[in-house]
Amino acid sequence: MKLLVMKFVLLVILVINVSAQVEVDLNVIQKIKKKAIENSKVMETSIYICDIYGPRLSGSPGYLKAAQWTVEQLKNWGIEKSYLEPWGTFGRGWQVENAKAEMIKPVYMPMIVYPKSWTGSTNGVITGKPMLIEYEIFEDVEKLKGTLEGKIVLLGKPRKAEIHFEPDARRLDENEILERAQSPFPGEKSPWAAKRGEWKKKRELRKKIGKFFEDEKVGVILELSDREHGTIRVHRGGSYNVGDSYGAPSLVVSVEQYNRLWRMLKKDTDVELRVNVQNTFFESDSLGRNVIAEIPGTDSRLEDEIVMLGAHLDSWHSGTGATDNGANCAVMMEAVRIIKQLNLKPKRTIRLCLWDGEEQGYKGSKGYIKKHIGNLETLELMEEHENISAYFNLDNGAGKIRGIYLQENDAARPVFETMLKPFSDMGVGTVTIRKTTGTDHMPFNEIGLPGFQFMQDPINYMNRTHHTNMDVVDNLIEGDLIHNALVVASVVYHAAMMDEKMPRKVMPTVEENKKNSW
Ligand SMILES: [Zn+2]
Repeated sequence: MKLLVMKFVLLVILVINVSAQVEVDLNVIQKIKKKAIENSKVMETSIYICDIYGPRLSGSPGYLKAAQWTVEQLKNWGIEKSYLEPWGTFGRGWQVENAKAEMIKPVYMPMIVYPKSWTGSTNGVITGKPMLIEYEIFEDVEKLKGTLEGKIVLLGKPRKAEIHFEPDARRLDENEILERAQSPFPGEKSPWAAKRGEWKKKRELRKKIGKFFEDEKVGVILELSDREHGTIRVHRGGSYNVGDSYGAPSLVVSVEQYNRLWRMLKKDTDVELRVNVQNTFFESDSLGRNVIAEIPGTDSRLEDEIVMLGAHLDSWHSGTGATDNGANCAVMMEAVRIIKQLNLKPKRTIRLCLWDGEEQGYKGSKGYIKKHIGNLETLELMEEHENISAYFNLDNGAGKIRGIYLQENDAARPVFETMLKPFSDMGVGTVTIRKTTGTDHMPFNEIGLPGFQFMQDPINYMNRTHHTNMDVVDNLIEGDLIHNALVVASVVYHAAMMDEKMPRKVMPTVEENKKNSW
């Protein structure tokens, strides 16, 4: 009995100690909610970033224009210390000027096509019967040496276009929330881990084939999209390194149209296509740039400490990068606008970063870390490492925030449970020990800082908008963006007001980072 009481007393002390780390100011939360809901700018910001300046492929004129616009907008909101900061060399920019493919025989069909980024142009308009090339291994293609010059090639086997019986968009249901809230079973491996090797092999084979086609001076390559219903998912086909060759012109075509062409060719139909692809490379300015904006801290003891929030501003090139990740940039900008315009006077400095080059491997955030925080390879640290309290990232589509991933940072759990409690009636509250990967909070964790990513409703991200031509403003839900801005504003503000910095995990080792990297 005595022992039990002792335990109870110890537990109470522990709870009090831990929850003392953050105190939630409900008056401030009410002000934040009112500002976010009644005076929202988040949709307008999204329209500028996506409709007007998108797409924002790293290194492209669109990226730079969008970045310059965000700096001006932040300044207009009173965040004077807003600027572009070079993070290192990215490479060359690239932009589509014209991408047209049509079937002109036996009947006319305009085709849904987008070029792979950083691939070359066709030699004007090319017309001809497409060559069907189905392959498993490199030798299947290599045997065609000497027959490919100027040809329109349909590359790859057809794929069954799945008919979707489930609705495209959804929110997390209670079961999914419960599952995500649970700690993974010890030793549980990521479902992606096993596939990485397979993906890598496929990528390498495709690269080798691409080089072969380029050497053979193929006219143009058409491959099918891995999404359905006219949705094109398209990434990089060529190199963004200045001085590399441009690569064979390569288009991704809707799976339904690709399959039609394949079936027609298999029936010996006299199919003829007309294709014209013109892309521009920009080689003169290879500098990469992030957007940085700051609300200075007001407590003389804590003003050197920094709470960071960010989202990547770059996008792929077929849509306008709305759910990935323009809307989330708009949300992060809106969060700092709310804090600034309510004149909340955070104790710590709040620093917003809109990253460049995320889609090419977190280049902007890694470049930032190298410049300010430490060396990700050797884990040698710079002075600023000590001053950063936390980094908050948003990049899982534009759905409503439902909670936060602790990234295995046990010590931060009570902080977020307290911070998110006032939002439980808005569906926010899951604090999971799990880690999520694939975006800019990762390098912060690798350098031993508490980097977090919010948990969001999936809406139609993975099956429709992620890296596709359907990643457009029409797939944003304004209410979700307003919700996200007010949650982030509150979390960031309260993190800037804590007595202590955010608790940290054990510093990772160089070996651990190597093992966990992609
Ligand atoms: Zn993204």
